[in-house]
Amino acid sequence: MNWKKSILLVLAGLVILVSVIFVVNGIKMVTANQPGHTDFTEGLMLLIPGALMLVAAPLITWRMFSLDWFQIKIDGDLCCPECGYNMAGLSATKCPECGNEFTIDQLKHS
Ligand SMILES: [Zn+2]
Repeated sequence: MNWKKSILLVLAGLVILVSVIFVVNGIKMVTANQPGHTDFTEGLMLLIPGALMLVAAPLITWRMFSLDWFQIKIDGDLCCPECGYNMAGLSATKCPECGNEFTIDQLKHS
């Protein structure tokens, strides 16, 4: 778990929280008023976007997690400082050849 994922989770949590508040208030306003009343319409304006966000937020979050959007991409000709294995294109900084793990800076300056 890196900090970007933590931020994403916090943001997703906030969006879901706001969506729930929208939906709850929307339902209250819709059920307490007759169709055609201003508050009924306003309730729908809360309920519909709230419900959409409630569905969309977990989907988008899941999608971002499933894509390797947050993974470190090693590009160019980066070789393992220990054994010289070409680590280009790997999404980890651990050398598959010798098993040594490096930071991205160590790799870039090797
Ligand atoms: Zn190596």
